[in-house]
Amino acid sequence: MPNLRSLPSVEQLLQTQLAAELIAAFGRPLTLGAIRSVLDEVRASVSKGADLTLPDRESLLEHASACLDNWTTSTLLPVINASGVILHTNLGRAPLSTATLQAMQSIARGYSNLEFDLGTGKRGSRLNHAEAILKRLTGAEAAVVVNNNAAAVLLALSALANRRRVIIARSQLIEIGGGFRVPDVMKQSGAKLVEVGTTNRIHLTDYEQALAEPIAMVMHAHRSNFKIIGFTEEPGLKEIVHLSHLAGVTFLDDLGSGALLETERFGLGHEPTVQESLAADVDLVCFSGDKLLGGPQAGIILGRANLIAKIKKHPLARAVRADKVCLAGITATLLHYLKDEAEREIPVWRMIATTPEQVKARAAGWAAELGQGQVVIGESTVGGGSLPGESLPTFLLSLAVKSPDKFLENLRQQQPPIIARTENERVLLDPRTVLPEQEGALLVGLKNVLGRKN
Ligand SMILES: *Cc1c(COP(=O)(O)O)cnc(C)c1O
Repeated sequence: MPNLRSLPSVEQLLQTQLAAELIAAFGRPLTLGAIRSVLDEVRASVSKGADLTLPDRESLLEHASACLDNWTTSTLLPVINASGVILHTNLGRAPLSTATLQAMQSIARGYSNLEFDLGTGKRGSRLNHAEAILKRLTGAEAAVVVNNNAAAVLLALSALANRRRVIIARSQLIEIGGGFRVPDVMKQSGAKLVEVGTTNRIHLTDYEQALAEPIAMVMHAHRSNFKIIGFTEEPGLKEIVHLSHLAGVTFLDDLGSGALLETERFGLGHEPTVQESLAADVDLVCFSGDKLLGGPQAGIILGRANLIAKIKKHPLARAVRADKVCLAGITATLLHYLKDEAEREIPVWRMIATTPEQVKARAAGWAAELGQGQVVIGESTVGGGSLPGESLPTFLLSLAVKSPDKFLENLRQQQPPIIARTENERVLLDPRTVLPEQEGALLVGLKNVLGRKN
């Protein structure tokens, strides 16, 4: 058994040049902690009877340095999304536009008039900033921005339907993922669910009958991530809204993604737009900031001024409010729509608008640069709770490797990590979702992994 007495002390290690460098980089307390932890580890394995040669100073400090790197590397890292899923919830949904990032940075860097009226010099409201542009863009009477769309639904129901009955079709009792289930959120708000229709068929008379009782709200939830096909029926939005209004009942439309542009223009199916909900005369419509809108995480509620006023006053509004950086980002993203430049400036729409030929040229460029791989036809998806079952024709770089799963794992270990997919024993990479500025890093990562034995 090695003699622990010959193990250097913390003080001895601290006196070395390498320790001085570690202290300069990581601070004294953390460096001390790392050195102690390394020494403890050696002592622990020796006392467990491990027959090891005691490490020398240099290797102890190298070990401490690795510890420090590990402790101080954020676990949240940028990745390269070569999966072809444009709004990948697990990969952080929408990448932001340059103007959005600039706006967020300039507000985050210093002070702002977040809740300060520059005209009067008195207290202002943080909600005014994004509200003005949302009103101009959509023609809605009023708007409020909160932390995310789940919060928007919860807040709207809590403020307007607490302890009261809310009608929803059985086909809309959906689960979005990440624990968001429409019926659970409705219950959490204190609303009492009145389910109408069946899973596949809902008739207007189902709503009519339910509306004969006292009802606080009719809710409509977009089936963001699945489709019902076959023997199905559902009344149009306009008809249900009309019926609700005849009964004097408020109508809330949870759009989920909430596109502001028509997805058909890009060869996709129809994703319900915010404009068409408002045209159907819904009282309130809510949607996410980081799905098809292409902005930072947020939830947006638009609609009647009297209802939005109630929502803003509810105590939960404070708990789910959007922070200044989000408000700056949402406003900047919305400006792209107002200036009719969304398709050019917002990365999500730019990716959607990329033609198969453009994607093909990139994939071919990668194959040429790597000296291997084939360019094959494939499909990209929009994802992120929009356009279920819809895809965009694309071209993929296809790599034949020995162990595709191992290859994917190796790609994930690159810096930045690369996320690809496999199909039929081949590794596939979709240029559509790879940001142009990440292309260099992607090729370096691919070359690293291809250089090993695959
Ligand atoms: C995505 C989605 C939500 C939740 O939105 P978040 O912004 O993720 O909180 C709620 N409702 C529907 C219909 C959705 O698609």
